[in-house]
Amino acid sequence: METLTTYDKDAFMTLLKKRGIQDAAVLKAMATVPRERFVGMDLAEFAYDDSPLPIEEGQTISQPYIVALMLQAMQLMPDDTVLEIGTGSGYAAAVLSRIVKKVYTIERHQSLANIARHRLQALAYDNVEVLCGDGTLGWPEHAPFDAIVVTAGGPEIPHSLSSQLAPAGCLIIPAGPTLHQQQLLRLTRMADGSMTVEELGAVRFVPLIGEEGWQDVEQELASGLHISSPKPEPLAEQIGKAAIHIPSIDTVNLDSLLDRIGDARLVLLGEATHGSAEFYEMRARISKELITRKGFNFIAVEADWPDAAQIDHFIRETRLEPTDEITFSRFPTWMWANRQVLEFVQWLRRHNRNIQSEGDKIGFYGLDLYSMYSSINAVISYLEQVDSKAAKEARRRYGCLSPWENDPATYGRMALLARNGHCEPEVISMLQDLLQKRLVYSRHDGRKFLDAVSNARLVRNAEQYYRVMYQGSVRSWNLRDTHMFNTLQYLLEYHGTQSKAIVWAHNSHLGDANATEMSTRGEYNVGSLCREKFADGAYLIGFGTDHGTVAAAEDWGAPMEIKTVLPARADSYERLCHDSGLDAFLLPLRHANKKLSAALKEIRLERAIGVIYRPATEVASHYFTASLSRQFDEYIWFDETRAVDALGPEAGPGMPETFPFGL
Ligand code: SAM
Repeated sequence: METLTTYDKDAFMTLLKKRGIQDAAVLKAMATVPRERFVGMDLAEFAYDDSPLPIEEGQTISQPYIVALMLQAMQLMPDDTVLEIGTGSGYAAAVLSRIVKKVYTIERHQSLANIARHRLQALAYDNVEVLCGDGTLGWPEHAPFDAIVVTAGGPEIPHSLSSQLAPAGCLIIPAGPTLHQQQLLRLTRMADGSMTVEELGAVRFVPLIGEEGWQDVEQELASGLHISSPKPEPLAEQIGKAAIHIPSIDTVNLDSLLDRIGDARLVLLGEATHGSAEFYEMRARISKELITRKGFNFIAVEADWPDAAQIDHFIRETRLEPTDEITFSRFPTWMWANRQVLEFVQWLRRHNRNIQSEGDKIGFYGLDLYSMYSSINAVISYLEQVDSKAAKEARRRYGCLSPWENDPATYGRMALLARNGHCEPEVISMLQDLLQKRLVYSRHDGRKFLDAVSNARLVRNAEQYYRVMYQGSVRSWNLRDTHMFNTLQYLLEYHGTQSKAIVWAHNSHLGDANATEMSTRGEYNVGSLCREKFADGAYLIGFGTDHGTVAAAEDWGAPMEIKTVLPARADSYERLCHDSGLDAFLLPLRHANKKLSAALKEIRLERAIGVIYRPATEVASHYFTASLSRQFDEYIWFDETRAVDALGPEAGPGMPETFPFGL
């Protein structure tokens, strides 16, 4: 554990430097303070990820890079006395205490103030004093301060704070006109008493609530209910006017959507949750039109290759290789084993039956990389059919990974601690051997070779994925999305120069990462990679909802539940769509009028629910900032959505237990 933490911290420090933190005192302090001691035990393993994390009272410990950026902007000196507003976990105060002589910090929640005080005492940060109170009023007894930092976002700069600055002192504060959208400001008191204000960039903090901050928002934040506005925002009205109403998924006329898609070679169909029926139904409807009217050749989905291969066999009615594995039996089963997908898969099978040439049948493929061990088995069983000597070698090489079969994440940890070395050379050699024998092997059966080589690539990338998982979430995210994008490209190549693909995956993979806060963390995704490579030849469609029910779990690996989706937050794009008054619509963004397009570039909150949904910490866990008209070419809205009908282990009465074959 010790070694792991040290290693993570090295990567964390490198990241801070790479992102432009140069102040030696700030870097030293960030390297010294153990961030894992300021979050719950369950989150300690994420302490050196560059992201905010939830703490008690629905608050957050800020993103480390932003903490470093704020402290660097304060231009601190060792003799300074500093005031912090928003103690939260106490982490930023602890970092400050390593740089300056004295730190005063104020927190409005009594429980947080108490926890932070005890924590700071226990860690012997003796030059910090914690007060519970309204920090917007400052701490006049200890003023003036050489610097003040506010770690919550207010509507404007509180006068009480600026008046408590010493000459040449500076105040760092996120401020902006809406609850979740701020500019980081630096206000400096000049020698003659005048003030200068500089903007340091867009940020997003929890609200600063108090006499000189936001008022009356607490109830709204706690309940997740909408703040009632006297009349809809003009922008919501504009959306209502530009939107194309969807009377029902089955009957909506999609001619204009097909026109807008034009000659695009890729249509990416997102989703705002992994468990809302309408998203699947609408993606199926659009996919059917793309296949029958525009000649699209295959569907690639956010599922593992071997699981999707079973569906591919099913819809082509080709012979299945015997396997012990049950399709889509791993968490989260409901994401693909659900009635909505089943109905679409049955349609694909009927469609393929009417196509004579094998090569013209629609294919169904998985882009994800979580199936390292099923993929190993698939490569070995393929080689057993075509080259028994190579199969023996594959068993030997992949044997390197077998001790961690039940928990591949442990392999990553072991490889990192370097006690057991790692299996990278073996998995790379295996893939190279397969590729070298491409001509010989694919003479037997090109599709089977495609399957084997895709599994071998998956094993190579998954091996790397599990290793980098311990070096921070950004690298592993980028690796996963690069794997998905490359698999998509290999498939386009396999299907020929004129081939066209439909992709089904979460908005977070398919919306352009450059238009969301992902880019500030250095993350990219399938959407941004597609735009880079295919430009307008990729049409990116996002999906959204306001409220309803969703199939999701509370934790990774926990049972699926039907959860209530809270109405969208104020200041979110979802809220704007809700206020349009329409129950369901298509909203063209690439082809929107200039005024609407510009208005929808504005940074707002957007919600992402994955296989996990935690309404209790919704803001921190599920909202991020985005610029909608840059993120997507089109947005599809369902104001109210319902959970998918799960099959498989989650099946209710009357549902087949295996998917898709238990029909
Ligand atoms: N600096 C914190 C840390 O390192 O964990 C993170 C702070 S969190 C992003 C913002 C904090 O500001 C919350 O704990 C919130 O309760 C607090 N807050 C909001 N308004 C406040 C006010 N008027 N006075 C004091 N604290 C306030």
